[in-house]
Amino acid sequence: MAGAIKIKLDTSKYRTPTDEDIAAAKRFIRLREEYAGILGERIDQVQHEGAERIVRICYRYNIDPKLLYFSSGFNADMMQEISDVMDDIEQTILDLIYEYSTRVTDDRDRISALAAWMALLGKGDRNLRETLDGYLYKTMKDWEAAIAAMRYAGTPVADAVTRIKAYLHSIYTIPEVQAAFKRWSEFTATYIRSRGVQYGAVGLSNNGSTNVVNMGKTTLQMTWRRFLELEYADDDTIAGYYVLRGSNYNCDWCDDNTGFWPIEDLSHIPPVHPHCQCFSIPINFKENQT
Ligand SMILES: [Zn+2]
Repeated sequence: MAGAIKIKLDTSKYRTPTDEDIAAAKRFIRLREEYAGILGERIDQVQHEGAERIVRICYRYNIDPKLLYFSSGFNADMMQEISDVMDDIEQTILDLIYEYSTRVTDDRDRISALAAWMALLGKGDRNLRETLDGYLYKTMKDWEAAIAAMRYAGTPVADAVTRIKAYLHSIYTIPEVQAAFKRWSEFTATYIRSRGVQYGAVGLSNNGSTNVVNMGKTTLQMTWRRFLELEYADDDTIAGYYVLRGSNYNCDWCDDNTGFWPIEDLSHIPPVHPHCQCFSIPINFKENQT
């Protein structure tokens, strides 16, 4: 942030935050982003390893690539192996999300409360696990398309593994997949037939593994935000909180959210949107006034 931070407060009622208060609030966001980054990398790693296992399973079963289709009605033995890997991926990622999201505190009770709260987070009326399950299903279908295309092109298994890992976040730009799109009607794989388009998924990346990473990071950010909510609400010396921008880019949403908010309204604790770097400083009542 350029220039000095300007805090406008009614100093007859509230204590002006010290430089250390401001620094601590900024540190909280820096740490949150650091953990979100590590979590994202670890989720990515799990997906890379999972993709490799699934490529190897599919190559081992040697099914006609034009017929390759991941569903329970198709080659039961292969599908059992694939769904075991997917279950494994799901549990590992879920554990990582809980682990990094609750690193916001050492307090055991707080961690339990946060974990219970997180479990219910999800898209629409789905909880965290169900939401992750939905994103991983898309990821699996991305891999189905890539594997069908690479097997059809005669790509050896080791090269297929290398390719799917290198293109994990851009499956539909793999040259073999692009080639398969031209003969889409001959295939059964969902996203070769649709030429990579996922219908009806507004606001999501067209790549399952990208959505899984983003979902993990967003869950962590929301949990760290929830932690502040609980901390503020439990502390009766806190009168409210002051929100400041932590980045310079233009954002009316963030700008409108800056300033003092009373403790009765905790809805303004950042982040206001993904990538929001705003931070909030708890504001105490002036001494002798509580
Ligand atoms: Zn913001």
